[in-house]
Amino acid sequence: MTDIEKLQKMYDESSYVVFFGGAGVSTESGIPDFRSADGLYNMHYSVPPEVILSHSYFMTHPEEFYRFYRDKLLNPDVKPNIAHLKLAEMEQKGKLKAVITQNIDGLHEKAGSKNVYNLHGSVYLNHCMNCGKPFSFTDMLSCKGVPHCTCGGIIKPDVVLYEEPLNESTVNGAVRHIMNADMLIVAGTSLTVYPAAGLIRYFRGRNSVLINRDLNVGDDEFSLVIHGKVGEVLGKLRA
Ligand code: NAD
Repeated sequence: MTDIEKLQKMYDESSYVVFFGGAGVSTESGIPDFRSADGLYNMHYSVPPEVILSHSYFMTHPEEFYRFYRDKLLNPDVKPNIAHLKLAEMEQKGKLKAVITQNIDGLHEKAGSKNVYNLHGSVYLNHCMNCGKPFSFTDMLSCKGVPHCTCGGIIKPDVVLYEEPLNESTVNGAVRHIMNADMLIVAGTSLTVYPAAGLIRYFRGRNSVLINRDLNVGDDEFSLVIHGKVGEVLGKLRA
């Protein structure tokens, strides 16, 4: 049996499927991940991206933060790829109950997924740190430098920076789905960013699948490991 046939069999015999993904889900849309050879962490910056994307750096160096954020994380022209589209179809057919993502790019929603848990927030939501007024993605695109509210406060994207906690109700919802699932598909993640990566430990079902382009630590913890591109693999699945 090929890996795709094994995946199909697991999918067909499951009734509560949950997807847990990371930056690798969006590389086929043209958004670089963090830790691959061609990821953001291997590009040369005078300040490492994991420092730039920390809460303390945002507070002390907002200009530099926004230069990086606009350049690398605000991607107005990107489109969902086959992985996002297949997941939306799987949800629509009723078997996929939740998409849990570490990504902030909003591509699952753009593809049509409804039940999405954005563990690290979304570039589509922003707020003034002073008065709380919300700002849209378009607002963020249309201003230059550090965006300010009319009240004078700095606008912050609702993305979870290093040193910041995850949203409690998002985590609780994600955990509830993982605990109820009989099949968990984990894809496009190095499983190194905590606490997000730790949530898959709540899975108690039968079929756990890892789809990743490169080898991952923890491969032996899954019932099926497929080394490949998530779009190419999910593209072959009959939803
Ligand atoms: P990561 O960069 O640490 O790891 C990505 C993993 O995906 C790697 O193991 C890589 O081999 C694999 N991969 C890359 N392309 C793939 C593909 N087409 N198919 C299958 N596997 C593929 O990413 P992470 O584990 O998600 O953790 C990084 C953090 O970076 C996350 O918290 C996320 O918030 C953030 N991030 C988000 C985006 C985004 O929103 N698109 C982009 C970069 C980073």
